[in-house]
Amino acid sequence: MDLKKLLVLIINDMVIFPNNEVRIEYDNTYDKQMINIVDSIEDNLMLIVNPLDENTSIDITSLPKYGVLGRLKLKMAVPNGKTRLVMEGIKRVEICNYQQEENFFKASYKDIEIKENKKEKDYFNILLKSLEKYINKAPYVGNAIMSQLNKVDSLNDLCDLISCYLNLDYSKKKKYIVTIDPIERAKKIIEDMNEDIKLIELEQKIEREVEKELSESQKEFFLHEKIKLMQQELGEANSKDDEVVKLRKKSSKLKCPAKVKERIEREISRYEAMNSNSPEIGIVRDYLDWMINLPWNNYTKDTTSLKEVKTILDSSHYALEEVKERIIEYLAVKQNTNNLRSPIICLVGPPGVGKTSLALSIARSLNRKVAKISVGGINDEAEIIGHRRTYVGANPGRIIQGIRKSGSTNPVFIIDEIDKMTKDIKGDPASSLLEVLDPEQNNKFSDHYIEEEFDLSKVLFIATANYIDQIPYELRDRLEIIDLSSYTEYEKLDIAKKHLIPKELEEHGLTPLQVQIDEDTILFIIRSYTKEAGVRELERTIATILRKIVKQFLLDGEQAFFNITKEEVEKLLGAPKYLYSEAVENDEYGVVNGMAYTAFGGDVIQIEANYYKGNGELILTGSLGDVMKESCKIALSYIKANLEVFKIDKSLLDEHDIHIHVPEGAVNKDGPSAGITITSALISLLTKKHISSKVAMTGEITLRGRVLPIGGVKEKVIGAHRTGVRKIIMPIENKKDLELIPEEIKNEIEFIFVKNYLEIFNELFKK
Ligand code: ADP
Repeated sequence: MDLKKLLVLIINDMVIFPNNEVRIEYDNTYDKQMINIVDSIEDNLMLIVNPLDENTSIDITSLPKYGVLGRLKLKMAVPNGKTRLVMEGIKRVEICNYQQEENFFKASYKDIEIKENKKEKDYFNILLKSLEKYINKAPYVGNAIMSQLNKVDSLNDLCDLISCYLNLDYSKKKKYIVTIDPIERAKKIIEDMNEDIKLIELEQKIEREVEKELSESQKEFFLHEKIKLMQQELGEANSKDDEVVKLRKKSSKLKCPAKVKERIEREISRYEAMNSNSPEIGIVRDYLDWMINLPWNNYTKDTTSLKEVKTILDSSHYALEEVKERIIEYLAVKQNTNNLRSPIICLVGPPGVGKTSLALSIARSLNRKVAKISVGGINDEAEIIGHRRTYVGANPGRIIQGIRKSGSTNPVFIIDEIDKMTKDIKGDPASSLLEVLDPEQNNKFSDHYIEEEFDLSKVLFIATANYIDQIPYELRDRLEIIDLSSYTEYEKLDIAKKHLIPKELEEHGLTPLQVQIDEDTILFIIRSYTKEAGVRELERTIATILRKIVKQFLLDGEQAFFNITKEEVEKLLGAPKYLYSEAVENDEYGVVNGMAYTAFGGDVIQIEANYYKGNGELILTGSLGDVMKESCKIALSYIKANLEVFKIDKSLLDEHDIHIHVPEGAVNKDGPSAGITITSALISLLTKKHISSKVAMTGEITLRGRVLPIGGVKEKVIGAHRTGVRKIIMPIENKKDLELIPEEIKNEIEFIFVKNYLEIFNELFKK
């Protein structure tokens, strides 16, 4: 029989079973096999085979004996240059006579005869049961098969139907085509289904486990998170709770005004209710810290014995009678009345004269605590009265800070450098300080941060300043100014003997028996190694000497006694720093001693005048301030207006330039008090009359020759005396200031008090 040959479609990745319809898509350009088949197909019939070995190249020997007769049911073009085919498996056939043509294989086929087998029925049922089992495990195959089951009644068809839907490997499935015996095939299918069931079970088991693990780990995670949160909550809540309890306890014990207590309680409740993550919580906590730790009602008891106070003050500080007296008075009045407002003392004087140390002694003598702040350089009123709490990093002002540090409601409160505050856009700290110091207001002092009133009225304020005129005017008005002027050499000698040396000996672990120093040597130290109004440098110098002596004691081992002589001082400290020489007499004219008041105390400065050919110009040098420049002009005008009186030739002024210089050039100088000195220097120059270097003068001059009073007399006189001046000319109105000058100095100086410059002229140039 000559069988008709059909095209063979070789498929290597899927199996088309009889009674099964599949869709295949192929590429119109690349899939040569499909293109050829589709082009050459006859009656839409073909033979579909799966090669025996999918890995080897295809030739006749690799093609199987059995395949499926298939029909092309539909061919349609789809986008992307592809064609879709719908093919139907018709029946299993035996393939014969493969024949390779140019582009494809052809073959003929024979129908397969399946012998009847009684067992088929049994296997049919067994297969169905297995299927049921399988569907139970793999429900997704269920629906598709169920709808078709009623169409099959042979084992062969049932096998093919199930084979289509089984989710098996291609290599397993293709065996179902070539296994012709339905029972054999059914066995294979059952075996494969069972295997698959196991796989599915395993998969499900793994899935369950994974799921369990996952849900367990998830559960764990959630639990952990919860615990963490709870711990966090609990932990914080606990520490916050503890804190709230502590705060309440402290608050209940706190002695403070009822209003303040209410405020504290309110803030504690607010703190308690606050979420720990609230950004505000720190602010409330800090505020509570301040409120609870402020000494609202913590008064120390003042020493009642006036004698005791006096003894302590005397033992710590030499002289300074006025201040000591004021303190005693204060105590006396306080003891006599019940409620006394504290005075606001301001100690004014050059550095090192004992302002701060005296304030500390006052506190000690009264048995009060000390608060100490410096307001030098402050330009922001918030420094005094605090920042509002809304301000980032807000804090109370320095007053409240000082009070808290002192731990007392009535400390001695030292405010240093009250003359060095500045005023700018941030406000005027001086007026804030006024509120603090004003006894009318300061019992209700309200710091911006604290917000509750604090009673400062029992505080004993002691301010310090170097220059009285630099204390803001409104403040000066409220202060009880006490001057602590420069010490004379003899005062310094006394301070050194009675206070500084004993104090320093003790601090260096030495006894007066081990170290001896006589007055001459102390004076030598004062004159040659210090130049100051106070005694700070002197104290440091004494400390340096003693330090070196202690070192020597320790190095030598044996020496237990040291006699400090001038020579020893020079050995220990080196050559003298300041040359102390009596004013040297010479016969120069145009040079006159002026008297200055500097940070070091009083000093003498020589004002120089000279002239040379020119046309009447006035040249001024020496870093003079405006007021001093004006003094020079006034002096010259005054002289020009009185040429006849002074017997000066007018042409001298017209044909010469005049130069006035005040050394030292780099030091700024200002003030009117050099007026009479400049005038004298000019007259000395123009009349070529010499003025003794033992003469010094100070006083303002007017255009009409009036001599006006000046300040700093005590310092100036002491300074001038130190440099050897023995005659001093000064305004008559300053005569009263001599009271403050020690007798031993007054006795060595001839004072001439004047009202008008003519008196000076008569004194200096007429003789
Ligand atoms: P100020 O505050 O005026 O600048 P201090 O109070 O710091 O000066 O004084 C500097 C040092 O001089 C301190 O050790 C102080 O004990 C000492 N001192 C100043 N004046 C006297 C005095 N009158 N008696 C004893 N010691 C003094």
